Amino acid sequence: MRKIIVAIDGYSSCGKSTMAKALAEYAGYTYVDTGAMYRAVALYALEKGLDEQQLVAALPDIHISFIHKADGQHVCLNGKDVEAQIRTLEVGNKASQVSPIKAVRQFLVAQQQAMGDEKGIVMDGRDIGTVVFPNAELKLFLTATPEERANRRFKELQDKGENPVFEDVLRDVNDRDYRDTHRAESPLRQAEDAVVVDNTEMTKEEQIAHIRRIFDDHINR
Ligand code: C5P
Repeated sequence: MRKIIVAIDGYSSCGKSTMAKALAEYAGYTYVDTGAMYRAVALYALEKGLDEQQLVAALPDIHISFIHKADGQHVCLNGKDVEAQIRTLEVGNKASQVSPIKAVRQFLVAQQQAMGDEKGIVMDGRDIGTVVFPNAELKLFLTATPEERANRRFKELQDKGENPVFEDVLRDVNDRDYRDTHRAESPLRQAEDAVVVDNTEMTKEEQIAHIRRIFDDHINR
């Protein structure tokens, strides 16, 4: 069967990675979480206390890779598994501060494009259907209300043993949306040919079934 590139974009905490992972597994494709790459760069900047100029100069020293473990994909920064460290609010916020930097985007986009050479890939992020793979065969744009996304993020953080305050999480979701959609470099926007999936009212299972259907319809077209 022919292999395609599936690009999944959308706002923060709208279930992109859960959907992308589920679809990749269903299709037998490779899953790439580009947010994890921006988060790894952010973690590097935080750990070393780098300002923008210093971070740009240090990019050649940043090596990002993915490994597969029993509980899924983990991102590595210079060979060290940092999956747990990158999933905090602090690193998420820093990621949305380093992601507008042009040199950071060029650095990561080049690596992401190389990963698509063989097709058979599901990649999620903010600019996958617009910048990384403008010719992706299937583009999905996921969305849900900010309140619903904050709710999901709040529960995720609680499950990880953190002690979040709902208002902080909601503010964070709104701030990140604003930064992601208003930056000059590759702002988050829906590609014209993307299929929009508003999952505010859908359960995880309903979303997975819905996205599988869209994929099957596309492949069998
Ligand atoms: O998706 P996730 O929340 O892990 O992404 C963290 C941040 O990385 C986002 O808020 C966004 O600023 C940035 N990002 C991006 N482009 C991507 C993926 C993530 O700018 N393709």
